[in-house]
Amino acid sequence: MTTFSAPKGTYDLTPPESETFLAVREAISAPLRRAGYGYIETPGFEHVELFSRGVGESTDIVTKEMYTLTTKGGTELALRPEGTASVLRAALQRNLHRGALPVKLWYSGSYYRYERPQAGRYRHFSQVGAEAMGTEDPALDAELVLLAVDAYRALGLREVRLLLNSLGDQECRPKYRSALQEFLRGLDLDEDTRRRIEINPLRVLDDKREAVQRQLADAPMMRDHLCEACKSYHEQVRDLLTAAGAEFEDDPRLVRGLDYYTRTTFEFVHDGLGSQSAVGGGGRYDGLSEMIGGPPLPSVGWALGVDRTVLALRAEGIAPEAPARAEVFAVPLGEEARRTLFGVVTELRRAGIAADFAYGGKGMKNAMKSANRSGARFAVIAGERDLEQRTVQLKDLESGGQTEVELDAVVETVRRRLG
Ligand code: AMP
Repeated sequence: MTTFSAPKGTYDLTPPESETFLAVREAISAPLRRAGYGYIETPGFEHVELFSRGVGESTDIVTKEMYTLTTKGGTELALRPEGTASVLRAALQRNLHRGALPVKLWYSGSYYRYERPQAGRYRHFSQVGAEAMGTEDPALDAELVLLAVDAYRALGLREVRLLLNSLGDQECRPKYRSALQEFLRGLDLDEDTRRRIEINPLRVLDDKREAVQRQLADAPMMRDHLCEACKSYHEQVRDLLTAAGAEFEDDPRLVRGLDYYTRTTFEFVHDGLGSQSAVGGGGRYDGLSEMIGGPPLPSVGWALGVDRTVLALRAEGIAPEAPARAEVFAVPLGEEARRTLFGVVTELRRAGIAADFAYGGKGMKNAMKSANRSGARFAVIAGERDLEQRTVQLKDLESGGQTEVELDAVVETVRRRLG
């Protein structure tokens, strides 16, 4: 008989580590909810074309990394490699953009990319994301950046850096693109990279290879080609961030791996993570709605990687608050006590007190071992003699002290003694 393992590049989340993931999702979503972002869920798969048109035909995500499948009915689907295109598709489909703008939404879920697995890079990973759609306002870009900053801060992370850039708009970007192409065509580059110059020249700036980077020292930068409107917009975003006390670094080479970004573009990096240092990123995508067949809908958003945020916490030695453990552990001695204490445990839980039970008909010794291991503050122990008197023994597992308590008063007594 063979046993199965999870597919390559995937992982199972089990206690206690799984609690850290929940804590990270909670820390990222709490600031969003306070800022009026509503929760959205979309399907795990979409029509392939949504991503090829939305994310971009020339991106690695679309050309190499999508998990695609053809259904028995002949429909071409893809497991979602990112969240923005789906969220915008859903907002358009549900006509959210016809109501009050901006439409502010947040989401949390699994995403899939056929990448070469390594530390911090998986084929199935987890993101929490946020999108603010339908409004062009530098304050909205700044709001989203600050909400991410606040999330990292709430988690206690100190070594997250914010990189900021502007990618221009349909006015200035094409002119810059041509200037960049002209420069790149004169360099000594391999076949693949030459092809990239023609399809997506900005991506060449992001090439991590030393031999390529060396030749890029004098490459034209978007920063020097921004039109007046983009320049002023970017200045306003920077001013708002500065006024809010957010530290950032201008990074004129930041381009990111998705084609839909315009104007504000940012990335959060953590230096303790090795080569996969990006913990989150996002930006403005004013043209995406039209790219997927919608009306003009200037928007901005980000996605933060839950997996890498967990790795960042580890790198900084931060352990999020321990999960809620049982506060009371019930140890029944005998069949009748089992029935009675099972009722007590249910009652405790309904009163909001975390409680657990010695399952499996364990003897006293093993049951007490389980009680101690559970981390509970109290053990509620009952045998036949106790039940005859309608009492139980309440043992304080920290001090070792034991008192007799009326069966009907267990919940009240525990509540009082837990403070
Ligand atoms: P992107 O959607 O590429 O902008 O990525 C946003 C964030 O998701 C990144 O900053 C990472 O933290 C995370 N991320 C992207 N791809 C992966 C992956 N293959 N494995 C783990 N995390 C990822």
